[in-house]
Amino acid sequence: MTLNQTKVACDEVFRGVKGKLILDRLRLDGKVAYVTGGGQGIGRAFAHALGEAGAKVAIVDMDPGKAEAVTVELRLKGIQSMALTADVSEPDQVQRMVDSIVAKWGAVHIACNNAGINMNSASEETSLHEWDQTFNVNLRGTFLCCQAAGRIMLKQGYGKIINTASMASLIVPHPQKQLAYNTSKAGVVKLTQTLGTEWIDRGVRVNCISPGIVDTPLIHSESLQPLVQRWLSDIPAGRLAHVTDLQAAVVYLASDASDYMTGHNLVIEGGQSLW
Ligand code: NAD
Repeated sequence: MTLNQTKVACDEVFRGVKGKLILDRLRLDGKVAYVTGGGQGIGRAFAHALGEAGAKVAIVDMDPGKAEAVTVELRLKGIQSMALTADVSEPDQVQRMVDSIVAKWGAVHIACNNAGINMNSASEETSLHEWDQTFNVNLRGTFLCCQAAGRIMLKQGYGKIINTASMASLIVPHPQKQLAYNTSKAGVVKLTQTLGTEWIDRGVRVNCISPGIVDTPLIHSESLQPLVQRWLSDIPAGRLAHVTDLQAAVVYLASDASDYMTGHNLVIEGGQSLW
């Protein structure tokens, strides 16, 4: 874009030309999205947000019942939705997921690679099984989804990938014992940076969102409850995040309003990583 074209584009915004206004640019009408781990928690909230902004949304989860339930919720709001069952750590299942979406809706414009798991153990007791399981879902799964969706997006010359990382990619929340989790999420940030810069000149943006501690089933396990109380005192905002605190961010990163942003990590944690 030349300097003059940039000036014309900005002038249109300031004159209020329809289609150029910020709320228009945040709309996702006609876009096809999927959300992995969409059956509950953060993924469910992402799916609702993308659908409310106008996208068709495939809900992907390894639990078919959860995927189906969220699909029904979206349809009740008039949002086009389908449920897909896939384990994101399995290449064949990830490929089938992307193929099914393209077969039904003809494209994949927005990929929310959100499925993740967390296990807690002291580092000296972390088993290889725990390490591998965590990395298989959190990092290998994100890679497989980025690659499968990315291949379609590169052919389209258009795509927005939003990975779910974590504040734990940046800091070590005390006194959490999650070596494998923290390390896998740091990998998601680096994966995002690398793909984001590699693919931007072919129309594909890759960013990630790093939530702080969010009130979802992931943190409801009994073993985590003493930690949850402790974390509360570490959050300047004075409360855990609600899934709704993350919804505007995913719409922004999925929309054309964020075209100049790639490879970045949007941190939403009530100030916790700064204290
Ligand atoms: P959650 O456990 O509430 O939901 C995760 C969903 O993913 C479930 O529906 C589950 O069935 C599905 N899932 C798990 N493994 C899968 C797999 N291999 N393939 C497909 N689906 C799978 O989790 P959440 O709190 O909503 O977390 C979502 C994402 O956000 C995760 O990547 C998590 O690491 C990240 N995150 C969560 C928090 C938090 O405090 N809750 C904070 C930072 C980051």
